[in-house]
Amino acid sequence: MKAVVYKGPREVAVEQVEDPRLEAPTDAIVKITSSAICGSDLHMYEGRTGAEPGTVFGHENMGIVQEVGDGVHGLSEGDRVVMPFNVACGFCRNCLAGRTGFCLTANPGFAGAAYGYVNMGPYRGGQAEYLRVPFADFNCLKLPEGTEHENDFITLADIFCTGYHATEMADVGTGDTVTVMGAGPVGLMAAHSALIRGASQVFSVDKVNDRLRLAEKIGATPIDYSQADPVEQIRDATGGEGTDKGIDAVGYQATVPEGEEQPAMVLNTLVEAVRPTGWLGVVGLYVTKDPGAPSEEASRGELLFAMGRMFEKGLRMGTGQADVKRYNRQLRDMIIAGRARPGMVVSKELPLDEAPQAYQHFDARDEGYSKVVLKPQQA
Ligand code: NAD
Ligand code: ZN
Repeated sequence: MKAVVYKGPREVAVEQVEDPRLEAPTDAIVKITSSAICGSDLHMYEGRTGAEPGTVFGHENMGIVQEVGDGVHGLSEGDRVVMPFNVACGFCRNCLAGRTGFCLTANPGFAGAAYGYVNMGPYRGGQAEYLRVPFADFNCLKLPEGTEHENDFITLADIFCTGYHATEMADVGTGDTVTVMGAGPVGLMAAHSALIRGASQVFSVDKVNDRLRLAEKIGATPIDYSQADPVEQIRDATGGEGTDKGIDAVGYQATVPEGEEQPAMVLNTLVEAVRPTGWLGVVGLYVTKDPGAPSEEASRGELLFAMGRMFEKGLRMGTGQADVKRYNRQLRDMIIAGRARPGMVVSKELPLDEAPQAYQHFDARDEGYSKVVLKPQQA
């Protein structure tokens, strides 16, 4: 089959690889109809992780069940399904507690597994014609048959659930004001989720114009941090207080307006922009190894974070990979009921063969490439 293969920094190719096959009775093979490119893929694409050349990318996957093992009971050939980016067993201590982002058995020696991702286990990605799904009963969420809502449902693999997870960690509730750093797909989904949960006002901070416009369309107040200090802009808009809650949807590759990276910049902005006793939800990625880091400490994931200020203000912080399965069924039903429209972030649908150019444009944050969905079944 054809698949998107990582070749080295800023290079992917569409190549022929071996077809996946059932390796355990609990596996399923899914024929991929949509597989999205994620900001998380860019960290690997840019050579800013330990990802090995040869990795097949793609952790945001949906499609049609093609084949199931003898031990799969709840799925049949022809079912339309979406898979969390996490691979989880469903029976370890963390999975039983709903913390499927930290499964203890799917990637032995490490808490957490995913498709097509560095350090996250041997699972091939779904930017390909077919995908092997382990523990398929647990990891496949069934969708209504047909093709309706394809761009909404693909966001259930990662970005919508991850944005929602950020609002859960930040404890966003009715009437809250919220700062969301980053208006990439994840930040936009966090803003959408905060408003669904009843936030009174959401500030979306970024500097990319079409992303800020999308934030506005979702119902957030856009804040362009290249125009003026975002902390001042947010304090001015909240009577000097700052927002109740804060979300990091940027991560360690945060940049100053001129483009230079400052890995702790977004965390430190949130510590200032959120009012004393506020809660922070950090889903933007932080790593333990960064070959391209701006300092020796940062290359080990040690950042200059304003811990003193955080303590002084009595802030709380939640971090980590999203436990997608905790939310995907509920958010699917919000989509079906017309109460959530996450598919609005999808800006391009392209055949698999166009992946190399799509990566280039998305990496450059070019206009029109806010979220690309690859369509392996399209020529
Ligand atoms: P993206 O790269 O498209 O978006 C990041 C946005 O942040 C960009 O629009 C950029 O302009 C903006 N930005 C950069 N520096 C900034 C600053 N100083 N202030 C405000 N905005 C700034 O990526 P995405 O797909 O939206 O993902 C966002 C982050 O979430 C990535 O780090 C990704 O790895 C991570 N992620 C985490 C999880 C999880 O489970 N925790 C899941 C998916 C993605
Ligand atoms: Zn993703």
